[in-house]
Amino acid sequence: MMQLKPVVIGLILLSIGMATIIPIQMIFANESEWNSLLSWGNIKEITVYIESDFEPNAQKIEIIKSVIQSKLKDKENFFGWNEAITHISYKTETQIPIFTIINKTHKSDVIIHLTEMESSDPFLGLTKYQLSNQTIESVSITLYDFDELDDSQVEFLARHELGHAIGLGHTTNPFDLMYPNIDSEFGLISMFDLISLSELYN
Ligand SMILES: [Zn+2]
Repeated sequence: MMQLKPVVIGLILLSIGMATIIPIQMIFANESEWNSLLSWGNIKEITVYIESDFEPNAQKIEIIKSVIQSKLKDKENFFGWNEAITHISYKTETQIPIFTIINKTHKSDVIIHLTEMESSDPFLGLTKYQLSNQTIESVSITLYDFDELDDSQVEFLARHELGHAIGLGHTTNPFDLMYPNIDSEFGLISMFDLISLSELYN
């Protein structure tokens, strides 16, 4: 039996200027609790730029893009963030921004930085926020040790970090995408994630 080594993911909150109080908002569902939830406010799209400090495998870049753009579903679970967000936005009549991949760094709200470097912490992915009045202003995601990750690790790691980028924190339930240690078995976007998002953006 092959098993993926657990992927440990870190989350750091940064703020501009004044010290930030991390909003703690508890939502209970499937026996899960969120440690934090943050919103981009009233915007329609979040631009994403992918950069790297080495020549990454092109297929792995396509995997990251598919985590945003895939229209695949497995029952109630989604492979791609945009399809998932569009679904819950329609169902709950809530405006939640979707991701748009762009080719220019200076217009990006989210930068995904791919590096061969290993993290000094035991994380493979790290999402940092810049906040303004408790609203997300920009996000920087780093995926460490990227050349060593296999395709499924890239997929689950990118999906998890983009979950942070849209505003989700970590949950307490190992069966959630947003649990700090993700496992390929539970790596899809669930209705639990989406209902929490709709409440956050409502
Ligand atoms: Zn995380």
